[in-house]
Amino acid sequence: MDFEGKACGNCGKGKLHRIQDEVEKGIFVEAFKCSFCKNIAYSEYVMEKVEAMYRDKAEVRSLIKVGASLALSIPSSIVKKLGLKPKERVYVTTKGSKIIASVMP
Ligand SMILES: [Zn+2]
Repeated sequence: MDFEGKACGNCGKGKLHRIQDEVEKGIFVEAFKCSFCKNIAYSEYVMEKVEAMYRDKAEVRSLIKVGASLALSIPSSIVKKLGLKPKERVYVTTKGSKIIASVMP
């Protein structure tokens, strides 16, 4: 889908212009950037391709029952990459069907 020149769905003030967005080092996809708020939007097709790319690179983990909650082990590659430590506190929330865990500053 072509969003070139269309109004920004994020701020409603700017217009979208085609760019090449680097989603991963050396991997560029077609995207549309707002001239006002600088938000970057992707077509549904590109979004599905990018999500499939991340899914292919992801490590699979099973949820573990802990009381009434479920726990998720974080792969050691991510522990090292982010410098995580045991008992470190994280914010856990959702965005659509995704789980977002953010390390507290
Ligand atoms: Zn905008």
